[in-house]
Amino acid sequence: MPNSVLRNVPSVNDLLERPPLRRLRDNLSHSVVVGGVRTFLDNLRREVQTAAAERKMPEVGDLAERIAQWILRQEESPLRPAVNATGVLLHTGLGRAPLADDALAAISAVAGGYATVEVDVVTGERSQRSRAVEKLLEQLTGAEAALVVNNNAGATLLTLAALAAGKEVIVSRGQLIEIGGSYRLPDVMTAGGVRLREVGTTNKTRLSDFLSAIGDETAALMRVHTSNYVVVGFAEQPELAELVELAHAHDLPLIDDIGSGALIDYSQFGLTGEPVARDSIKAGADVVLFSGDKLLGGPQCGVIAGRRELVEKIQHHPLARALRVDKITLAALAATLRLYRDPEKAAQEVPLLSLLSTSLENLRNRAQRIASQAAASPAIESAEVIDERTFLGGGSVPTQEIDTVCVALAPAGRSVDSLAAELRGGQPSVFGRIQKDRLLLDLRSVLPAQDRVLVEALQHVGAG
Ligand SMILES: *Cc1c(COP(=O)(O)O)cnc(C)c1O
Repeated sequence: MPNSVLRNVPSVNDLLERPPLRRLRDNLSHSVVVGGVRTFLDNLRREVQTAAAERKMPEVGDLAERIAQWILRQEESPLRPAVNATGVLLHTGLGRAPLADDALAAISAVAGGYATVEVDVVTGERSQRSRAVEKLLEQLTGAEAALVVNNNAGATLLTLAALAAGKEVIVSRGQLIEIGGSYRLPDVMTAGGVRLREVGTTNKTRLSDFLSAIGDETAALMRVHTSNYVVVGFAEQPELAELVELAHAHDLPLIDDIGSGALIDYSQFGLTGEPVARDSIKAGADVVLFSGDKLLGGPQCGVIAGRRELVEKIQHHPLARALRVDKITLAALAATLRLYRDPEKAAQEVPLLSLLSTSLENLRNRAQRIASQAAASPAIESAEVIDERTFLGGGSVPTQEIDTVCVALAPAGRSVDSLAAELRGGQPSVFGRIQKDRLLLDLRSVLPAQDRVLVEALQHVGAG
């Protein structure tokens, strides 16, 4: 029976002559439109064949219009700009840290042309990739040497593979972290060809546990910052300095994965217990690992900083090439790091830091303005300004709670889920968080320059 419908599918050539697709051919390209029409018709035939009930074929003109709309949607960039009103500053789904203006300028200066990625401008000879960035990292962390790779997962994998393949690395059971399903430390160890030697218990690990596990097979001791959970109560972990002393007494390196990559003390921003790279190096860690796009506020990358001899060994491992970063990342990271040479400048110009340090009074004023304009939308029953608490990362770390101010929207004649979905689907995409029957727009993570687009998005949502 569906075959009768299939016989009515118009030809590709017939469709291409209809005005919506003719216009599209002029604006896009002939081959893109022809390819789009074919794919659409293939999908349509499959749908008709598998549909339970008989489907009616639309009239040719309508079909051409539908195909034109569909092709245009396919042509949109897969990445859409988003307003992050979730309150979660380090939102992996929304691309983590927004970049500083200096980083954007550095990217646009090198992206479209050639750049001095691996040449020495004085001698004209080939030089070590990214030497300048590494110098900045050495300056800011106090490490002898540094290396930049794709992300912290890559930094960990590479470090383990280069320093400990075929041998054991000792880690406390309380620090076997998972950062989202694709990063579980035991699995990263396996992928690096390293045997995990877990010691202690979930809540308590003592220095003596590490000591009794050290043997001929040991290649390193590792400490991992528990970025997205805390063990409280009857809990104990050895201090970094104690672990360093023990490792060095046995001629072993101490690898310290500090996670977020704090280059300055974040207690000034109300965050406690964030390990600072420089402190870790000072305490004697041989290799320190961290992300570039978490608290540091730069592009996605992973930093390996530490003793020269070890960093060079890591650099020469074949995986280093597979994990290396491009000129765009190097340019953005260098520009971000330069800002940190003056911490006050960093606090103003690194967006993550300025979002973290925005006063509640400032957030309240902005929330008030947004609320009064939002209330004018027919889709919104009420908009109230409320004081709230948010978390630094998606893992909702209980210790990293941050004060914030939200606009709480009650939808008019529709569900809060449908309001949230419509805002997510807009251009730009707006993400809030749902609490009971209200959609909270949390200003802690909204860049002030985006207040206006946020209001416009609210004015465009439809009534229930
Ligand atoms: C986030 C994190 C990682 C993974 O870093 P990516 O840059 O996301 O690969 C590894 N270890 C710790 C402690 C982290 O917090």
